[in-house]
Amino acid sequence: MRECFEVRDTDAGGRIGELTVPRADATVETPALLPVINPNLDTISPRRLADEFGAEILITNSYIIHGDDTLRERALEEGLHDLLDFPGAIMTDSGSFQLSEYGEIDVTTEEILDFQHEIGSDIATPVDIPTPPDVSRDRAESDLETTQERLEIAEATDTGEMLVSAPVQGSTYPALRERAGSHAEGTALDVFPVGAVVPLMNDYRYDDMIDVVAAAKRGLGADAPVHLFGAGHPMMFALAVAMGCDLFDSAAYALYARDDRYLTVRGTRALDDLDYLPCSCAVCTEHSPAELRALPDAERETELAAHNLHVTFAEIRRIKQAIRAGNLMELVEQRARAHPTMLDGYRTLLDHADQLERSDPVSKSAFFYTSHESARRPEVVRHHQRLERLSVPDSLLLTEGDAPRGDEFDDSWRVEPPFGPFPRALSRSYPLTAEVPDRTDRAALEAAADGVGRLVETNPETAVTLAHRGWPAGVLERVPDGVTLVNLASD
Ligand SMILES: [Zn+2]
Repeated sequence: MRECFEVRDTDAGGRIGELTVPRADATVETPALLPVINPNLDTISPRRLADEFGAEILITNSYIIHGDDTLRERALEEGLHDLLDFPGAIMTDSGSFQLSEYGEIDVTTEEILDFQHEIGSDIATPVDIPTPPDVSRDRAESDLETTQERLEIAEATDTGEMLVSAPVQGSTYPALRERAGSHAEGTALDVFPVGAVVPLMNDYRYDDMIDVVAAAKRGLGADAPVHLFGAGHPMMFALAVAMGCDLFDSAAYALYARDDRYLTVRGTRALDDLDYLPCSCAVCTEHSPAELRALPDAERETELAAHNLHVTFAEIRRIKQAIRAGNLMELVEQRARAHPTMLDGYRTLLDHADQLERSDPVSKSAFFYTSHESARRPEVVRHHQRLERLSVPDSLLLTEGDAPRGDEFDDSWRVEPPFGPFPRALSRSYPLTAEVPDRTDRAALEAAADGVGRLVETNPETAVTLAHRGWPAGVLERVPDGVTLVNLASD
């Protein structure tokens, strides 16, 4: 167990956790948003972030502070918390981003870690190498070696109570990300940013983003707090949380506001294109779009940034509630409909259903089948695994609907899309209580047929009869040959 992180609730790969930040004497509930504060530009003051938005933690860049004489002196004299006037926990970045943008920086990992410690950072970051997507494997590997050396330097540096992050790199190579994850897990470091995913998100590559996170998580293990570094758009939070991300940082709220862009959970809108404001935060209830457009530049930027933050924090709360209620996957399905690339992200998430299944609770309140992707959810995967462990009689009828009269078979089980067969005694247990549309889709029938196949393969001695309501021939092809078929719909 990592002492600084405790998982309280889970749903799919998502979790509500507690990150203990000893130096700030604070506990941060995750999933959490860290607004990015540029120490030179105060769009929304840190004090306001805490008081009005409930921010428990923020992130700022120690490299920018280090490189500015006035800021550096003030930070060393007053400490970061007084400098920014923020009562919560403060994480600091190290200049890795500047390194990736400009090719070099003028501090070493030891120097910048010491500096972060001296100015009172609560969570520090070493100088890792953010390897972009799609580089050669050789480059990704050699960059990763450097990052791992930096993590070892960080481990050996005396940082007192300050937590230190261990970025996980490896570009778009899942095997490298997994290796990087297990190396980071093996250090004594505390928080695990999955790095260099910003270019993926800028290009709407949510599918690749999910593969990268899934690989890092396999290396890291279940109790590691994971930070999706540079991810600040609320549209993709539910998806990333479902894959197991705990911390997000948002510069987007301020950067987008500067360009007159308005964040929503369904994507970004240009203020110029809005006739209505689809939000009930204070900014949106007190202004019309025309009134916002008419404000002086600085004021408009602040108002838009405030709205962007409101919508971002609201989504984090909505996600936490969904985890608590056990319907995070339903929320992910809704968000996946916002953009085709988000749907790619969701479908990729379901490629990792086995991995999600390990943390998915055995019982929740309800399973709503709301898209054909639902047929690939972790609950269906788990039911199919469970079919291998159920004991079956010599002759078994699997039938949709009610049990038949007569004693032609040793037993009769229900078969329901998308799960497939199960003993009637389990009818009232999760997830077999799922709410499924009457107009079943092909994916649900195929998943049910695969369930029949799973049962038959593990019990080759059993004589199985499947009574279905008009399943199409293409679906029935998935049922093993030895099964006797009865079409109830043809009666
Ligand atoms: Zn608003």
